[in-house]
Amino acid sequence: ETALADVLVLFGATGDLAQRMLLPSLYFLDADGLLPDRLRLVATARTEMTREAFQEAARKAIAARAAPDGLDEKVWKRFADRLDYVGANAADAEGLAPLKAAVGEARRPIFYLALSPSLYGRVCRALELSGLAGPEARIVLEKPIGRDLESSRAINATVGDVFSEDRIFRIDHYLGKETVQNLMALRFGNIFFEPLWNNQTIDHVQITVAETEGVGERWPYYDEYGALRDMVQNHMLQLLCLVAMEPPSDLQPDSVRTEKVKVLKSLRPFTRADAAMNSVRGQYVAGVVGGQTVASYETERGQASDTDTFVALRADIANWRWAGVPFFLRTGKRLPERRTQIAIQFKSVPHSIFEDAAHADLTPNRLVIDLQPDEDIELLLMNKAPGLSQGGLRLQSLPLSLSLLHTYSGPGFRRRIAYERLLLDVICGSSTLFVRRDEVERAWEWVDGVASSWTDSRMAPKPYAAGSWGPAGAFALIERSGRAWYD
Ligand code: NAP
Repeated sequence: ETALADVLVLFGATGDLAQRMLLPSLYFLDADGLLPDRLRLVATARTEMTREAFQEAARKAIAARAAPDGLDEKVWKRFADRLDYVGANAADAEGLAPLKAAVGEARRPIFYLALSPSLYGRVCRALELSGLAGPEARIVLEKPIGRDLESSRAINATVGDVFSEDRIFRIDHYLGKETVQNLMALRFGNIFFEPLWNNQTIDHVQITVAETEGVGERWPYYDEYGALRDMVQNHMLQLLCLVAMEPPSDLQPDSVRTEKVKVLKSLRPFTRADAAMNSVRGQYVAGVVGGQTVASYETERGQASDTDTFVALRADIANWRWAGVPFFLRTGKRLPERRTQIAIQFKSVPHSIFEDAAHADLTPNRLVIDLQPDEDIELLLMNKAPGLSQGGLRLQSLPLSLSLLHTYSGPGFRRRIAYERLLLDVICGSSTLFVRRDEVERAWEWVDGVASSWTDSRMAPKPYAAGSWGPAGAFALIERSGRAWYD
């Protein structure tokens, strides 16, 4: 009870993230009775407006998210009673005076920075100078934390001057997803998987994050980052860590995060030779996605650019458990479908007793974890096909499905926004699902190595048609080792 926050200050409250994700998440937590009674919400941005005007906008944004059920008026009233708005310039200590008045005597404030990361340093200093950053204040940071190791260190150092590490909550919203947490439940809540979870039994792992969207209006941000920095450094390496980490001794923040850091430290650094052998950069040109003709990245950007909108990589983890098991990662924009998936490919059985031509091939087992758009976990198993056939058994591969969406559907069930879990954890002061400073920095270190291998070998992105699965090289990358992307 004592660790519960008493006020949540939402910076960037008029922005896209706050309106689309954060305010609806807070409302849903309130609807489920999960917000502490005395928690107040103070929304803030530079724009001056009344509390009523902000509430009206928030109500619309939340109603859009609550469709088709719509808002519950009783919950809305409770939520609106907590919700205040203050116009303030967060980058300036004097500008924060009205906010200070609104925060009042609260001892355990949360400052959620849904702001451009270029402001993080200045906002932290302003919070300190204005006296808002007391000893129990917490701060929440969104990605991206820097653009490389050096810039992330600079941000972390400035924030760290004001807030101790246990009070800094770095968001990777993938960690708030049900299936991602379920991966831990599956690995460490069952006896079946751990004994097989190694290079004796697992052949390779594939992680795919595919989007159908282009960059559109986000190009000023995206053009500086590209797919490697925007997706691989954070979300994809987090997923890789959760697949590859050793069993932590408990769920305490440092137990889990220390295991993840060990994985990041074991990633074999990229050399110049890896650029051509173990990576592919791509950029979409015009094509067709979902029946719609779409423009090239450069047309959206308005000028030539060598930013990657697609990356495929082979990552190797140099430790006893994973030696010889490649992790293939691919992510891109304007791909044929929206899909976030982890596929764990097991090896073939050592000897087949079903050696008759009449029998289907033995398909090796595969564990497929879908994060988006559906949340689902499937284990592909060999099975006897029903019925009789001449000359013995006929086999087929069938999924044993743990469909989360279908198992937990029906009245009263709502698929949660990943931010709900994370906001609740910040409010309770639990940082297991947040990224520690050394995780961010180790991930940047590895990603910087990939980026420099590209620079050193002058590797420009290869064009791929929008609506395709990336440049041909992405297929060659995985086929080189005798494997194929699982589609
Ligand atoms: P956005 O739509 O551009 O919103 C920025 C917000 O910051 C606005 O409310 C703006 O309002 C406020 N702001 C700007 N300068 C300010 C200042 N000096 N003092 C106080 N408020 C200021 O940005 P966003 O898309 O919501 O993104 C916010 C953060 O979340 C970024 O770090 C982004 O990388 C991250 N993020 C966003 C998404 C997403 O889906 N949008 C996803 C992942 C991560 P005023 O102009 O009125 O001040």
